[in-house]
Amino acid sequence: MSTTTTGPISQRAPSSEGRVSRLPGERYEFFRVIQGYLDEAARLVNVPEHVKLILSQPKNELIVHFPVRMDSGEFRLFKGYRIQHSNLLGPFKGGMRYHEEASLDDFKALAAMMTWKSSLMNLPFGGAKGGIKFDPRAVSRDELQRITRRFFHALGSNVGPDFDIPAPDVGTNAQTMAWALDTYINTVGMVKKEDAMGVVTGKPVSSGGTFGREQATGQGLVHCINEWARRSRFKLEGKKLVVQGFGNVGSNTAVLLAAEGVSLVAVGDHTGYLYNPEGFNVHRLKQYVAQNGSIAGYANGQKIAREEFFGVAADIFVPAALENQVGPLEAEALQVRLVAEGANGPCSPEGEAVLARRGIDVLPDVLANAGGVTVSYYEWVQNRRSEQWAIEEVQERLEKAMLDAYDRMAQFARTHECSNRVACYGVALQRLAQVYVDREIFP
Ligand code: NAD
Repeated sequence: MSTTTTGPISQRAPSSEGRVSRLPGERYEFFRVIQGYLDEAARLVNVPEHVKLILSQPKNELIVHFPVRMDSGEFRLFKGYRIQHSNLLGPFKGGMRYHEEASLDDFKALAAMMTWKSSLMNLPFGGAKGGIKFDPRAVSRDELQRITRRFFHALGSNVGPDFDIPAPDVGTNAQTMAWALDTYINTVGMVKKEDAMGVVTGKPVSSGGTFGREQATGQGLVHCINEWARRSRFKLEGKKLVVQGFGNVGSNTAVLLAAEGVSLVAVGDHTGYLYNPEGFNVHRLKQYVAQNGSIAGYANGQKIAREEFFGVAADIFVPAALENQVGPLEAEALQVRLVAEGANGPCSPEGEAVLARRGIDVLPDVLANAGGVTVSYYEWVQNRRSEQWAIEEVQERLEKAMLDAYDRMAQFARTHECSNRVACYGVALQRLAQVYVDREIFP
């Protein structure tokens, strides 16, 4: 496969394996990028200097090393992270990522983004992120289970239903959360197991999960796209979609948009990129990926290079893989009206500047993929009350939450004449700053 990628066109160079990677010594400083948006928003909002100072670093940065017995009988030492950025508004909250390129800098950035997301969505949560630096596809299912259990055992009471609540992210899923829950229940010495249910969200429905969580991020994104289309007088039916990343977020978004008559014409994942001008059958493709682990080998599409993928003529581009995928060259190549960010941080600031110059609208991650944490909150509430809500109730609440937040973003952007992204940070910062003003700083 010649198209495996880790970064935008401008930051890649061929390696000996025909893969592409960042230039030696060139590192995308994700946390600095996220802090840059905060600085921009702070210039628009009247925030005391000490509030900016407090929010400029995570509250806690936890790194654990733990041994795991592999199937061969040998032991391997893994490095796990949990970065707890803020718990001002409620317990720390955020996903767990298993990825071979994950770094402390990435987790700090992603944890901070969770703080802004929870605040923008008016949720009683703070922000956190964590995970393990390894390739989950390169280990067996049994090894994956032991790695997850040892990781959560090592975290111990640094997570908990009233303190820090993990959820799935890249490389993890409902099964990972079921193992995490079980490990937590069996290690913290709970008298009542029900009290521990809310330690993680995104669980299988049979293990205390909520209806609607699996597709929640895609559903929230589709609500945002619909609202953008309504406000822009843009008819979605008959339009074309390009999606990078066909995991939880990408596949659910494509399936939900297909129901509105939007056809997927190009798709990519860690194995490469496919094009089908007639439109993919997204249900079949999703099923294929569930069985085979990637889009590689899917028959009804023509292989294209990453560079060609970004130039496919369409209407909407949904990045739903990793951060820093749309740099200036990708932004110049894109032939769409809208970039709706399913992934966290997919556009670099330089890429976004090009999109702005070209008049391509952006629905920023902090709002656009917040459906996941919002339904995670519903799951947590159900766990606390020992309830199970009907899917209709979850969906109704989610739609209202997304549209309300969209409105807060749009109003801020109008009033302060700023981008949608800075508006999201501005709204979030206002809420956090008010709490610091009310409570002041301990002692
Ligand atoms: P996932 O593991 O289910 O899917 C990730 C997808 O990205 C896979 O298709 C994978 O092949 C692809 N990918 C990985 N590396 C790639 C590369 N170098 N080039 C192209 N494709 C690559 O993960 P997910 O849960 O769908 O998360 C995707 C993004 O959405 C992440 O940025 C995540 O932080 C964000 N997000 C997820 C949720 C959620 O509820 N799962 C919520 C909010 C935001």
